[in-house]
Amino acid sequence: MSDSSDDAALSDLVARDREHECDGFGRGKVCVRIVGVARLPTRFGMFRIVGFWNNRDGKEHVAMIHGDVGGRERVPTRVHSECLTGDVMGSLRCDCRDQLEQGLKKLSSLEFGMLLYLRQEGRGIGLLNKIRAYALQDRGLDTVEANLALGFRDDERDYAIAAHMIHSLEVKSIELLTNNPDKVAQLREHGIEVAGRIPHFIPPNAINQAYLQTKASRSGHLMSFETPPHLPEQSDEAVMDASAAAGPLETQGG
Ligand SMILES: [Zn+2]
Ligand SMILES: [Zn+2]
Repeated sequence: MSDSSDDAALSDLVARDREHECDGFGRGKVCVRIVGVARLPTRFGMFRIVGFWNNRDGKEHVAMIHGDVGGRERVPTRVHSECLTGDVMGSLRCDCRDQLEQGLKKLSSLEFGMLLYLRQEGRGIGLLNKIRAYALQDRGLDTVEANLALGFRDDERDYAIAAHMIHSLEVKSIELLTNNPDKVAQLREHGIEVAGRIPHFIPPNAINQAYLQTKASRSGHLMSFETPPHLPEQSDEAVMDASAAAGPLETQGG
């Protein structure tokens, strides 16, 4: 791996972006600049971390880059939305941490790839509102009902920033690690060429499964274990067939 030339290429983007300003992406006309790049060895493998400033709010988004992605086509890409309770605290209310860890592991096993970590906590409603939504769920409302009760849409996430980040990294096209066709559609709407999709399977662990079953019986939800359950925050659906996770990577065109 030509680490030093990759590092130099990414560091050049900091200088390039110093005065960057464009018409912006999406309804919010969001514009981002790359402001810092550093090596980040992780328990999942070697990455570079790229820090982005944006003109809309004070949120500091990052990209985790494995290998060389600039100028490349079909770059395996995972778009992850921040979940403090899951990613950091290990919450079992969702499977965000499993999705994050499996994403980083998978990317580091490939020649190159990237994970965009978006600071849109709790499907975009923010951490404190997510906790309030959890409180409502504790009283029997489901995720969607709880968000609506707090005056939010079911999903407030916006992928304009992700689209600009991909553009800033000079990635020509991506293959998205996702089970969520809506994510593909949203990125395409923002002008990103999604050349394929890599299924992102999360096999449930024993605790996860117990939690889902408890939720089903407690809240009276009709949750069939024949079909994937819908979990909060990351809208990718968990796939209950654990054997699928062991299978080879498949990419699908279109
Ligand atoms: Zn811009
Ligand atoms: Zn989560």
